[in-house]
Amino acid sequence: MSSIQPTREGAGTLAAEFVDAIWSGTRLSQATKRLPAGVAVLASFLMFSCGSDKAHTSSPANPAAAHSATSVSGPQVSPVTAGAANAAPPASQTGGFDGARAYGYVAKLVSFGPHPPASAAIQNVQKYIRSQLEGFGCSVDEDDFHAQTPIGTLAMKNIVAKVPGAGRGIILLLTHYDTKRVASFVGAEDGGSSTGLMLEMARLVCKDKKQPNSVWIAFLDGEEAQLDQWSDADSVYGSRELAARLAVSGDLKRVRAVILADMVGQKNLHISRESNSTKWLTDLVWKTAARLGYKDVFVPRELEAIDDDHLPFLHRGVPAVDLIDLADYQAMGYWHTPEDTLDKISPRSLAIVGHVILESVKELQAKFR
Ligand SMILES: [Zn+2]
Repeated sequence: MSSIQPTREGAGTLAAEFVDAIWSGTRLSQATKRLPAGVAVLASFLMFSCGSDKAHTSSPANPAAAHSATSVSGPQVSPVTAGAANAAPPASQTGGFDGARAYGYVAKLVSFGPHPPASAAIQNVQKYIRSQLEGFGCSVDEDDFHAQTPIGTLAMKNIVAKVPGAGRGIILLLTHYDTKRVASFVGAEDGGSSTGLMLEMARLVCKDKKQPNSVWIAFLDGEEAQLDQWSDADSVYGSRELAARLAVSGDLKRVRAVILADMVGQKNLHISRESNSTKWLTDLVWKTAARLGYKDVFVPRELEAIDDDHLPFLHRGVPAVDLIDLADYQAMGYWHTPEDTLDKISPRSLAIVGHVILESVKELQAKFR
């Protein structure tokens, strides 16, 4: 398990280590994106008993605006940075990927408020994602489907930006944009960070000159379990839908690699190698990160298996890698709580992960030309 970094907000190191120890002791061999109940209670107790400031008082930047966001564009949020240590480097230093812009997209997504599947708010998020993609010149496919969930049939929507290549191959990038069905949960990190990152990715690749392989960027609905407890049947609805749909159309055979981003924007980001992920693809991404000088973020350490949107593709034999820092966010007590807010997000982290994905896609284009 990753070591726990004291946060800028000043949560005590000792308490963090305590959470770490408890978490390690209770961890199942297969970590899912679900925190055992006892740990959740302890983590929230520690959060309210040991930290000092912002961790206790943070809330959605503007809850009133968040809950009244009805227009397509939503409230205006300027892409401010979050202090020097977390400022994004100039885009010219990160392959053209603009971390400040990505942060601006995350801020906008958060401003729509909680947006679980089939909510009024998620419809505004969908319109926002689509309008941004069209503005970037992407061709956009939408797949409306109905998911059978433990709380009933829910209307969901996958949105896929498609950049055609010269050959038949497809490089598929994934993010989920739905938020967990938890009161006042806006998902700045869990749902927001990777979605803001992929919007910035789309801005770049949709204006690219023709590459050997197509690049598709899928914005997935329904990653989260609709009940509190994660299960195989109640999770990754959008990803399962996309994989099944591509299998039927025959396009799945064209997919050379899947890169999933999920929880990639937090301060003190440490992404470990996720052990469900395909080894050669993980190697490719970590080698790329090391070459770019990001060994401190893409740490050369294996993490336990995580259930996430890459699984439906792995199960169908498609190489896939999950880029995620779940452990740190859990240890801080922010994960799946109303504390998952914009102040936890670093434009610099977004810039680094964006740069690595961008360069990894180039490596894949060369590998499958
Ligand atoms: Zn989640």
